[in-house]
Amino acid sequence: SDFLANSDPAVAELINEELQRQRDHLELIASENFTSAAVLAAQGSVLTNKYAEGLPGKRYYGGCEYIDKIEQIAIDRAKQLFGAAHANVQPHSGAQANFAVFLTLLEPGDKIMGMDLSHGGHLTHGSPVNVSGKWFQVAHYGVSKETEQLDYEQIREQALRERPKLLICGYSAYPRVIDFEKFRAIADEIGAYLLADIAHIAGLVATGHHPNPIPYCDVVTTTTHKTLRGPRGGLVLTRDAELGKKLDKSVFPGTQGGPLEHVIAGKAVAFGEALKPEFKTYSAQVIENARAMASQLQQRGLKIVSNGTDNHLMLVDLRSVNMTGKVADQLVSTVNITANKNTVPFDPESPFVTSGLRLGSPAMTTRGMGTTEFTEIANIISDRLINPDSDAVTEDCKRRVAALCDRFPLYPHIQIPVAA
Ligand code: PLP
Repeated sequence: SDFLANSDPAVAELINEELQRQRDHLELIASENFTSAAVLAAQGSVLTNKYAEGLPGKRYYGGCEYIDKIEQIAIDRAKQLFGAAHANVQPHSGAQANFAVFLTLLEPGDKIMGMDLSHGGHLTHGSPVNVSGKWFQVAHYGVSKETEQLDYEQIREQALRERPKLLICGYSAYPRVIDFEKFRAIADEIGAYLLADIAHIAGLVATGHHPNPIPYCDVVTTTTHKTLRGPRGGLVLTRDAELGKKLDKSVFPGTQGGPLEHVIAGKAVAFGEALKPEFKTYSAQVIENARAMASQLQQRGLKIVSNGTDNHLMLVDLRSVNMTGKVADQLVSTVNITANKNTVPFDPESPFVTSGLRLGSPAMTTRGMGTTEFTEIANIISDRLINPDSDAVTEDCKRRVAALCDRFPLYPHIQIPVAA
């Protein structure tokens, strides 16, 4: 805005440069998306000025009459979207949502069992560098070596041996459907709590394009900024209202102070958008686009972990072309494609090198691209990876990326002032 440009040209200019970067790159990071202009507006509003510790109707500060209504809209829409009995919309992030769950259900020294980071799990599911790995005993499961998918019998046997107090499902790099009913049966057999962290797939769950964990899990956590396409943030949902009240206390005062009400307004707007039929169409397209991209990459000789995808993401196993994830990530970035290197299951390389490239469809689907464009994106990536040393191919790929970006404008309502 003019206000920012006048008062702080340095920051304003960098924001403009970031907007330009988002406009002229193909954004394939599976955990990213582009929020609507309405979500941006809610987040950049006067709500950032307000302290509102507590919950709607039960605040520790005066002046919360409008904030209360906004947060209640967010809560009601979240409950409706996922069919939950209880929602807490205050977690600042997905990690904060998980921390609140641990504080509610566990004591330090208890055992948790989640997926290994290198197989697609998240840091907060027991990684030794995260509080979840420092304060709890951890057993990690992985995917099957043969299918590169979840093997429920193997997980069951491990759970019977390990007897965790909390079993965690839901992942950061798993391209297949999760069977929450089977996880419930395992949790019941050992008397464990079951947490589903649907950070990645929340938008697909909300629209019925992935099974809903709410009926089977004690607690469901998610981020709001990935397939759900809201502002950066977290959300906790439960099927049981009483447990929900305990979780409320773990979010505040347990692990957070004042909620970010401007972000909560953004969540309310995004949940409202997700309840509309257009969002269901969008989510279906996210999956179709991922399938089209995976299948074309396979056609071009690149191996896809688990041989395909059921959701918004895929992992390219670059061992098939003798390349590391680090190199592939650098190569695609030279043609203005943004992705991330990622371990593949049983990866022989370190997490800094890796053998995989994680690709996702949510962001470019938001820009309006369909299967034809995603097939072209797969061809651009294949051309670049298969011809790492060709300047002619690099130039050609860059030109094709620019052509796609031009055809599907991002935030056309925002104008970047031309420097005098
Ligand atoms: N859980 C899963 C499965 C995730 O993929 C992520 C984000 O990458 C998170 C939790 C953490 O979310 P945040 O980055 O908002 O803390």
